[in-house]
Amino acid sequence: MKMTSLLLKDALGRPLRDLRISVTDRCNFRCTYCMPREIFGPDHAFLPRPELLSFEEVARLARLFRDLGVSKIRLTGGEPLLRKQIESLVAQLAGIPGLELTLTTNGALLARKAQSLRDAGLQRLTVSLDALDDPTFMRMNDADFTVAQVLEGIEAARRAGFDSIKVNAVIQRGVNEHAVLALAEHFRGSGVILRFIEFMDVGATNGWRMDDVVSASEILARLRQRWAVEPVEPNYPGEVANRYRYCDGAGEIGLITSVTQPFCRGCTRLRLSTDGRLYTCLFATDGLDLKTPLRAGAEDGELLRRVSELWRHRTDRYSEIRSEAGRSARKIEMSYIGG
Ligand code: SAM
Ligand code: SF4
Ligand code: SF4
Repeated sequence: MKMTSLLLKDALGRPLRDLRISVTDRCNFRCTYCMPREIFGPDHAFLPRPELLSFEEVARLARLFRDLGVSKIRLTGGEPLLRKQIESLVAQLAGIPGLELTLTTNGALLARKAQSLRDAGLQRLTVSLDALDDPTFMRMNDADFTVAQVLEGIEAARRAGFDSIKVNAVIQRGVNEHAVLALAEHFRGSGVILRFIEFMDVGATNGWRMDDVVSASEILARLRQRWAVEPVEPNYPGEVANRYRYCDGAGEIGLITSVTQPFCRGCTRLRLSTDGRLYTCLFATDGLDLKTPLRAGAEDGELLRRVSELWRHRTDRYSEIRSEAGRSARKIEMSYIGG
C-alpha cells in the first residue's frame, strides 16, 4: 500500500496528505459569515440521521485514506462537539497508527468535553474565537454565546494537557478589526497559537464582498504597530498559515491568507462531508458519493480505486482563479463540507 501513497498525486502534482471530516452539519452558533440565521433558520433541512456516516464507516474510510497517504485528520463540521459520543469516534481514529488527529470547535461545549476528548486520545485542538468582547462576539455568533464560555473551554483544554491548542479568528471589515490587538494581547505568552483568517467567500449565503476582507498584510501591520514580530519557517510544505513569532519571545501567531495570497499550489486537502461525499476543494460544487458503494458492500480495493481516481484527476485551485471563477451560486456550504 505504501507504493500507492508514493505515487498518488493529483493532476497538478500535489500529494494527498490531509483529510477534513465533517461529523455533523448542525451547529449551536449561527456565525453570520458561515451559517447566517436567515438561511439556517428553524425551517432549514439538516441531514436526517440515517444519512450520517456511522463512526465505524468513518473509521474504515480513515484507514483507507491513511493507506493512500493521508497523515493528518481534522474533525470538524458544523460543530463537531454536537455529534453524540464524538469521543468514541476520536478513540477509534486515535487507534489508527500513522494518523495525527485534531479537531476544530467553536468551544461552547469544550469546558464539559475537553478532558473526555483528551482521554479518548485527541492530541491537538483548534478553537474558534473572533473577539474578546461580548457585544462583538455575540453579534458574530448570533446565538447568545459569551466570550467567557469559550475561554473556559480553552482553559479546560489547557488543564487536560493537549499537545497543541490553536485559536482561529476570522477578521471582517467593520465588524471585528479591533479584535486583532485584543486577541493578540490576550494570547501572547500563553502557549496558545493565535491564527487570523481572512474572511472567505465560502458557500453561497454569507454575502461575501472583497471590501469586507481584512488582508493578512493589514493584520500584520496592525500587530507590528504594537509588537516586533518576525517570520518563521513553515513546519512542513503546504502549511496553510504563514507563521510569525514575537521577537520578545512571547510565542507565535499565524496568518491564513486564503484570499489575498492563495496557497492552492501546496493544497493537499480532501474533505469528507457528513453524509459521505468527498470534495477535493473547499469551493467545490460536486462531491463523490462514497456512502452508496460503502453501504452496498464495496471491498476496500474498490473504494481505494474510486478515491485514487478522484485525486488523480484533481485540478482545483479556486482561490488562485477566484476573480475569473465568477460567483457560483452552487458552492457547497462550509458547515456541510467541513471547515
Ligand atoms: N464549528 C467549528 C468552529 O467554528 O470552529 C468548526 C467548523 S467551522 C466551519 C471551521 C472554521 O471555519 C472556523 O474557524 C470558522 O471561523 C471558519 N470559517 C467559517 N466560515 C468562514 C468564512 N466565511 N471565512 C473564513 N473562515 C470561515
Ligand atoms: Fe458553527 Fe463553526 Fe460555522 Fe460558526 S463557523 S456557524 S461555529 S460551523
Ligand atoms: Fe485547496 Fe481549493 Fe482552498 Fe485552493 S481553494 S487551497 S485548492 S481548498
